[in-house]
Amino acid sequence: MYSLEEVRKDFPILSREIYGRPLVYLDNAATTQKPREVVEAIEREYYSVNANVHRGVHFLSQQATELHEQARRRVARFIGARSEREIIFTRGTTESLNLVAFSFGEACMSEGDEVILTTMEHHSNIVPWQMLHDRRGIVIRVAPIDERGVLDLEALERLFTGRTRLVAVTHVSNVLGTVNPVEAITTMAHAHGIPVLVDGAQSVPHFPIDVEAIGCDFLTFSGHKVYGPTGIGVLYGREEWLDRLPPYQGGGEMISHVSFERTTYEQLPYKFEAGTPDYVGSAALAQALDYVDDLGRDCIRAHERDLTRYAMERLGAIPGLHLYGEAEDKDAVVAFNVEGIHHLDLGTLLDRLGIAVRTGHHCAQPLMERFGVEGMVRASFALYNTRAEVDALAEGIERVRRMF
Ligand code: PMP
Repeated sequence: MYSLEEVRKDFPILSREIYGRPLVYLDNAATTQKPREVVEAIEREYYSVNANVHRGVHFLSQQATELHEQARRRVARFIGARSEREIIFTRGTTESLNLVAFSFGEACMSEGDEVILTTMEHHSNIVPWQMLHDRRGIVIRVAPIDERGVLDLEALERLFTGRTRLVAVTHVSNVLGTVNPVEAITTMAHAHGIPVLVDGAQSVPHFPIDVEAIGCDFLTFSGHKVYGPTGIGVLYGREEWLDRLPPYQGGGEMISHVSFERTTYEQLPYKFEAGTPDYVGSAALAQALDYVDDLGRDCIRAHERDLTRYAMERLGAIPGLHLYGEAEDKDAVVAFNVEGIHHLDLGTLLDRLGIAVRTGHHCAQPLMERFGVEGMVRASFALYNTRAEVDALAEGIERVRRMF
């Protein structure tokens, strides 16, 4: 296990004070803080390598290109992809999901065809499919969850019909922390001849991911949730699928040859990367992945799971506090409401104590509806959080309760 005290020194923002109190940052599912090495990688690239990639014969351009392509190989290794051709750089999970909805929709879906989602999807994995519904008349089917926030696999299987074309499911719920059995879902879907898209926004930052072991056909994640910079994300897609799908956007970089009559497209992965890529972001993302692997993803998981269990225990003992998401396989998120206190008031008052939590619908309004609430308070953990911070949260909630 790594030393929390040492690790926290890598993240300068964690020693900030908010309203004169030490910052307790528990909004990591929204975005993580950045270690020095990542910010330094950005600075290093802008100060000493910066040049546009893939185009120049000159030294800097070639060096920047090498860093960008090295980063692609680093991502492939991080998630167990067979080849860097299966790694598409995007702006983040949202863009990756939109890319699949657009390109898969174009190539493989027509009116009446169905996509299977779950009740616990983030809006990013709902709205692009609704847009496809509006454009092409596809149908969205939704697999339900139980009261503990566990996906009903039998109900999911019953949703398969002759018109099913894709299953798109989050790996970990950003509200409930439920870890969905994506291996089993993939085996089930493949038995029906159907590909699977896994939204890995909340899994990739927390435990080892191997797309080959999962067997999924697509996987998405965001750099900023895994200690990397904002504005860069990843779409993993099996080469066989990516080869079949049309480009998402047109422009420079993604073409092989252009005339006014006809354009031919580049090979993978460039076919899906129109325009100048975020080559600084990719290099910094690679640095973040190195940071995570240096600490060890198994250690990170063990630490975060311990914090989550501890938080469930501590918060669960507070009278009037209702926890949401009690799956056995639960990752680093704890969502709750306290009787008689509006979630927004609770979040605002905790902020006054220096405690940063998320409040509201968490971009998962259908899930809020499932639990009959308008919003929840959410604390989410990262590799640098401590038990003392969980104590601060519990004491903060008690303090707010006494005010009401
Ligand atoms: N899916 C899930 C499960 C998420 O938690 C998030 C971010 N909250 C997203 C998708 C969207 O990620 P981004 O905003 O980085 O595109």
